[in-house]
Amino acid sequence: MSVLRLALCALLFSSAASAATPWQRITHPVPGAPDSIGGFSNGCIVGAEALPLNAANYQVMRQDQRRYFGHPDLVRFIQRLAGEAHQRQLGQVLIGDMGMPAGGRFNGGHASHQSGLDVDIWLQLPKTRWSARQLLKPQPLDLVSADGKGIRRQHWQPEVASLIKLAAQDRDVTRIFVNPAIKQQLCLEAGRDRDWLRKVRPWFQHRAHMHVRLRCPADSPQCIEQAPPPAGDGCGTELQSWFQPPPPGSQPPVRREPPPLPAGCQALLDTHRLP
Ligand SMILES: [Zn+2]
Repeated sequence: MSVLRLALCALLFSSAASAATPWQRITHPVPGAPDSIGGFSNGCIVGAEALPLNAANYQVMRQDQRRYFGHPDLVRFIQRLAGEAHQRQLGQVLIGDMGMPAGGRFNGGHASHQSGLDVDIWLQLPKTRWSARQLLKPQPLDLVSADGKGIRRQHWQPEVASLIKLAAQDRDVTRIFVNPAIKQQLCLEAGRDRDWLRKVRPWFQHRAHMHVRLRCPADSPQCIEQAPPPAGDGCGTELQSWFQPPPPGSQPPVRREPPPLPAGCQALLDTHRLP
């Protein structure tokens, strides 16, 4: 670790609420070459970049939470996607959570978004830009019917399907999580061009946003990659299983203790001893 980085460490922490994880007290990126460390659900990042908050083609929600940091590849991806959406006149892209300045776990909300490679993008594309007030208290649009088996027609825009497809076709994207009912709708509408559907994975919730995950960057040797999704478009039995009742006797998932931190992240916390 460089002297410069050590000197800056003292400036990086704030004495935030006690319920916060140590990562939530880190207020600025850890200086250094970009390095995503560990897994998406148990990791951290050195050299994160802030997504520029003033941009023509996207808007950043809940800026007060300061979760607009990520690996430079994630920033470039968002800019690329929003540029393509603009070219196709899909509307304004609304950006939700990326990660915290040094990544890591935060209380309340997601288990992932820890290594600077995940971003939530909302599944609505306003034609006019939202006001600062709307961005601070954004209203999600629930695209899924009450029984969870289909989409709400009145909220479903074809532009949303185009946005998900654009993201899935991006070279850096490995997975996109959406509600099973949304995946099903994409399967129904896709026609012959279906390869991109492989990356779109059904998951709990995700009724108003998609969660986009990038591959490990070339500059991050400690980044732990996920296995690629199964072959095929994922529109068959696997998707249908999400609409079946759970088999009798099955237990709801138990919350487990978080696993130990990757050595690189633990070292980062040890070096930046908290006040
Ligand atoms: Zn997410």
